[in-house]
Amino acid sequence: MEQVTPRAIQRVGVIGGGQLAWMLGPAAQKLGLELVVQTPQNTDPAVAIAQSTILAPVADVAATTSLAAQSDVITFENEFIDCEGLQALAQQGTVFRPGLDVLALVLDKRHQREFFERIGLPNPRYDFLDGHESNAELAAQAEAIGFPLVMKTRRLGYDGYGTSVIKDAAQLSATWDRLDHAPVLLEEFVPFQQELAIMVARSTRGEVVVYPTVETQQVEQICRRVFAPARVRDGVASRMEGIARTLVEELQLVGIVGVECFLTSDDRVLINEIAPRTHNSGHYTLDACTTSQFEQQLRAVSDRPLGPTALNCSQAVMVNLLGLDESEASHYQKLETLKQRPGATLYWYNKAIRPGRKLGHITLRLDAGAEPRDVAAAIEAIWYGA
Ligand code: ADP
Repeated sequence: MEQVTPRAIQRVGVIGGGQLAWMLGPAAQKLGLELVVQTPQNTDPAVAIAQSTILAPVADVAATTSLAAQSDVITFENEFIDCEGLQALAQQGTVFRPGLDVLALVLDKRHQREFFERIGLPNPRYDFLDGHESNAELAAQAEAIGFPLVMKTRRLGYDGYGTSVIKDAAQLSATWDRLDHAPVLLEEFVPFQQELAIMVARSTRGEVVVYPTVETQQVEQICRRVFAPARVRDGVASRMEGIARTLVEELQLVGIVGVECFLTSDDRVLINEIAPRTHNSGHYTLDACTTSQFEQQLRAVSDRPLGPTALNCSQAVMVNLLGLDESEASHYQKLETLKQRPGATLYWYNKAIRPGRKLGHITLRLDAGAEPRDVAAAIEAIWYGA
């Protein structure tokens, strides 16, 4: 066992109090850290595990000033903050990990793409609009990329909100009109063979650790299931790792990042986007890795050495449990059935039940001989029906 010596950082402020912050709870306890959470509702999951809570929206700068007064360092579970508003706080000495420059970069999908390009990482073909352009300019950009293409609002997109696949010119202008000519990114539609993701952490000392590459599968643009490790041809996983390492080195980031990529049919890896925090694709690490992504985030931001990232089993499957168009009682009945599955660990975030909302997830640690796709299908048959 590693000796944990007394450290200066005792209280970690967390902006956002959803399930990602909630899952920091056991790790904080293990490391002897206290969590102070800024989140809008007292029903948000992380309120249950926080030593104290500041009830305010994540972009409320005055609330973050109070958070800073109670914390030794501030980290994020939600990136939709007011970066500019927080600059003064950073100048006065509040430590944000990752730094506000990283958050500012990921807040706009255009800036992300330009950054990837600048550091030599592979993007899909893309272009962008600021919002004042004419429909003719939109059409010219789209023609250069080619149909089908993907239109994404540059800010505040998540779980596919703000992302539309566009088949032709008519749909193009109709979609931009529907978005009130918001700033958007246009990118080629990538007919991927798989979507891959990887978590990477970097400490204040510059130590970098990388988790295994996983395959993520989305249904209607929302993550439905994750397979760890991804079954990919030689060289793909090492390229993913290379991308992950380059990203955190170039960003000089302290904390943890989720990197989402497309694997094309000719085995090219293109970056989709990054999230400078724990990520749905890393939930499996709670049960299937030596150090969970949540413990790793806390280790990184509290100056502790990072932990080992290897799988502690041959393979694992994670299935997201989204809200169903069914009664509450039906959700709880299904949870009881899922709990009986051998090798399963169930996480239920205790959020108000709404169709389509991420309410929980289940992880199964598997032997080498198991077929992860069959296991996921069996779980989903119970939760979502055949
Ligand atoms: P969000 O920021 O809302 O999570 P993403 O950019 O990750 O949006 O898109 C959500 C999903 O939409 C992706 O996981 C992928 O399945 C699909 N998608 C996004 N961009 C493309 C693209 N260029 N080509 C093909 N599919 C895409």
